[in-house]
Amino acid sequence: MQHSWLTPKAAVRAVGEHGHGAFALAPIAAGEVVAAFGGWVVTAAQLDDFDPDRVSRSIQIHDELYLLATEEPEPGDLINHSCDPNCGLLGETVLVAREDVAAGDELTFDYGTCDGSPYDEFDCACGAPRCRGRVTGDDWRDRELQVRHNGWFSPYLARRIAAQHGRRGAAPL
Ligand SMILES: [Zn+2]
Repeated sequence: MQHSWLTPKAAVRAVGEHGHGAFALAPIAAGEVVAAFGGWVVTAAQLDDFDPDRVSRSIQIHDELYLLATEEPEPGDLINHSCDPNCGLLGETVLVAREDVAAGDELTFDYGTCDGSPYDEFDCACGAPRCRGRVTGDDWRDRELQVRHNGWFSPYLARRIAAQHGRRGAAPL
């Protein structure tokens, strides 16, 4: 039994620059669930006690709460960031295809849609033409990202964005 789930239509394989990634083995239709993240719920202070690799496989689920990944990587934890992703969050922990994904394509999502604090900031070399060069806990504040990822932010960030624009709830932008 594992803490995270990866669709049987994908598998993990080594990737030159960033270690590992999850790749589609078969076509995946837009809207299909590709992964669900699990782990242990910890605070920001507790997260600081764990090594950076494990923290980098963890995910922020609320202002002060994180899902700590397992000590040994699991396939569901190895989905890489892209600044131009083909998957997106549905809620805090479920990942779905945002578009049709062809067999052989890497599954990715934008970590800026779940990160609202500086626990896992890094220089990005995703290769997308619109790559922003660095992924930070403040990316959700960027208007261009807010529009492009509208509907794909973790709910706690969608609420922050709505509040920033003077609205309650996660109303469309
Ligand atoms: Zn990038």
